Amino acid sequence: MSLGQPSAADLIGERTRAEIFALVLTAGPISRTGIADRLGLAPSTVTRLLPPLLAGDYLRETRAVSTGPGRPQRLLRVNADRHVVVGVKIAPTHVAGVLTDMGARVLARAETPLAECSPATALAVAAELVTTLLAEAPTRERALGVGVGVGGHVDSRAGSCRYSAILGWREVDVAGPLAAATGLPVVVDNDVNTLVVAQRWFGGGKDVDSFAVVTVGSGVGCGLLLDGALYSGASGMAGELGHLPLEPDGPTCGCGRRGCLEALASSGAVLRRLRRCPEAADCPDVDAAVALARGDDGPAGRAARAAFAAAGQALGRGLAGLCNLLNLHKIIIAGEGVTAHDLFGPAMMSAFEEHAFSEAARDCRVCYDPVEDDLWARGAACLVIRETVRAPLS
Ligand SMILES: [Zn+2]
Repeated sequence: MSLGQPSAADLIGERTRAEIFALVLTAGPISRTGIADRLGLAPSTVTRLLPPLLAGDYLRETRAVSTGPGRPQRLLRVNADRHVVVGVKIAPTHVAGVLTDMGARVLARAETPLAECSPATALAVAAELVTTLLAEAPTRERALGVGVGVGGHVDSRAGSCRYSAILGWREVDVAGPLAAATGLPVVVDNDVNTLVVAQRWFGGGKDVDSFAVVTVGSGVGCGLLLDGALYSGASGMAGELGHLPLEPDGPTCGCGRRGCLEALASSGAVLRRLRRCPEAADCPDVDAAVALARGDDGPAGRAARAAFAAAGQALGRGLAGLCNLLNLHKIIIAGEGVTAHDLFGPAMMSAFEEHAFSEAARDCRVCYDPVEDDLWARGAACLVIRETVRAPLS
């Protein structure tokens, strides 16, 4: 959005401005003093970073009101009607999207199933979904852009998916075709990163500066917020917790290597282990495995409980590694597999506590969040809002 490379100080300023906007969005109306207190900033920093947000009409000030002792203060609030934004999540079986206002409030939602998820099909469906959602907007002129979450290795600068095992994609330009089809700017990121932004703004990450979202289910994903900033790594691949090598002679992983966490803790790993039990050899899917584990007193039920516990144990070792390395405040377990946490959680927590170094486990809260379906897409919309308010063009 600007010419030339911004300096490190500019980048820190932009990041802080996005944090200020997010705080006003989640905790506003709030005074300048309140912002400085909550974010640990000097009042002069808040005063320096606010003008572009006010000039661009992204934030507005109320009339001075009395908020306690001292002089009445003007409060800041988000001008939610300034723009609408579309957030999209591309999954192997469907494309889900939401239309939000500038306050990331969901105005409309839509979902289209995918018969197959080739890039051409999925991106055409995504473009149609954007058009459908924008038809719900008061005026299309106010559409700011489209945020897209894709599972896998995403190069967000290039707007492309380098590799996605779950979609079977390699070197796919996501932003180009979608921008051409919709006429809007497109921001692309890893889907777990969109969830990290949503958790930071609306969920369990609101009150902590360093946390991880770990998704469990058909794969194991991870997104990181470190010292208040989304961490993507040198080339966008940070957080590949699923491919942490845990057992050199373990089962083969989807990535072709052996003994990765994902090969030990995914729903496929649970099923593989369970089917070794003759009484459960024909268990069709993970839902049936959950039903066996919760309701069967025989050998199949015992095998199912053991399979979930083994997955939990591997996950707990992975989480301990994550926590030992990064000293996180919190780990939020999400994803479609989280609803079975009664089955894998106890083994996960004991392995986590066993392998966490020193006080790392005590300092880190682990919680489960069966994320609402549209939070992923809402997080993708937040990416666009965040990019805009970092360095607003007024
Ligand atoms: Zn792997």
